[in-house]
Amino acid sequence: MDFTLLPEHEELVEVARRVAVELAPGYVERDRAGSFPWETLKLLADSGLLGVPVPAEAGGQGAGELAAGLVCEELGKADYSTALMVIQAGTAGKMLWRLGSERVKEQWLPRVTTGDTTFGLALTEPGTGSDISALAARAKPSGDGFSIRGEKSSMSFSESQMAFVLARTENGPALFVVPLDAPGVTVAPFDDMGSRPLGRAVVTFDDVVVPADAMLGTPGAGVKFALGSLASSKVLVCCVCLGVAEAALAEAVAWAKDRVTFGAPLATRQGIAFPAADLATQLEAARLLAQKALWKADRGDDFRREAAMAKAWIPRLASTVCHEAILTLGHVAYSREHPAQLRLRDVLATELGEGPANTQRMIVARDLFGVTPS
Ligand SMILES: Cc1cc2nc3c(=O)[nH]c(=O)nc-3n(C[C@H](O)[C@H](O)[C@H](O)COP(=O)(O)OP(=O)(O)OC[C@H]3O[C@@H](n4cnc5c(N)ncnc54)[C@H](O)[C@@H]3O)c2cc1C
Repeated sequence: MDFTLLPEHEELVEVARRVAVELAPGYVERDRAGSFPWETLKLLADSGLLGVPVPAEAGGQGAGELAAGLVCEELGKADYSTALMVIQAGTAGKMLWRLGSERVKEQWLPRVTTGDTTFGLALTEPGTGSDISALAARAKPSGDGFSIRGEKSSMSFSESQMAFVLARTENGPALFVVPLDAPGVTVAPFDDMGSRPLGRAVVTFDDVVVPADAMLGTPGAGVKFALGSLASSKVLVCCVCLGVAEAALAEAVAWAKDRVTFGAPLATRQGIAFPAADLATQLEAARLLAQKALWKADRGDDFRREAAMAKAWIPRLASTVCHEAILTLGHVAYSREHPAQLRLRDVLATELGEGPANTQRMIVARDLFGVTPS
């Protein structure tokens, strides 16, 4: 077994590290501003970090999922929300390239990597989160196209120009490319506790008319591919979590070496050092699991088991690390001016987004037992 990074991976990691150094000082400020940081998206685009896993023929880097994971981890050390931007661009690029009509590709694919827009993914509804089979949004035939009606109750990147919208057609569920400035679209942002720059919102589609070729692929098949893409994006989310947690742990360790209580540095106390040692061990193992899943994805192997294991475990591990880091740092970390509290608020989102732990356990358990526990 060889753990050495390929030269092209090293190069991307180096770029991501440079971008992370630039971004880290503004992490707290971007959260407080609460609006989408377009200049950060541009920085990613100019650095060649948008579209890392998107095929080169589609205008991306064509560097694969493992490369994207390494980039996400590095960016996650500096700014959770920025790392998520790399994931949405990758997902959008792959879906457009594989399933978009010529018109849709021409219109949207170039924008994946320019940094002029992001892309929303509108799956969740008031009555459907983990269980997508309860989908209520409808796409009815209208003229030469479709009329989409439904409420999507949790969409990140709501300042995007376009969203992929899941709706039920008479032939089954399908994904549609819908411009968010189309008549009938209403966006109502949340005042969220974390990942605030990403602008999660309720998005309502009130008889929004789209042409027939706005449908991605065919009903059923398009959705299957899209959900397949989400299998890798949920591992990439885990890589972001690893980066956030690694930064939290590093900060706590540095602090514990300096901070003296009762005549000795915190680092010399087993009560501080042993939990940190355990968490560092778990992070190392978690990193190997996430990277194995992405390595298998790049080989075209079935990686759903590893992906589900990673998503069931790593977001909670990251939350735990961020929580413990705050306790080690003490009161200074409780201020909204300190990055430690923001890391915890941010990674908590990953315990729900892209599939909560229990839905991932269902996948692992089905693989183990051959039946899905209810
Ligand atoms: C910050 C953030 C960003 C998001 N961005 C998007 C987005 O861009 N697009 C989008 O479509 N959605 C988005 N979501 C929604 C996300 O995908 C959902 O939160 C997720 O699918 C879970 O759905 P739910 O929240 O409705 O929880 P539910 O499905 O209601 O589940 C609630 C809890 O019950 C557990 N649970 C469910 N079923 C079972 C069972 N059978 N057995 C045991 N436990 C069970 C789940 O694990 C979960 O912990 C986002 C969410 C957050 C928090």
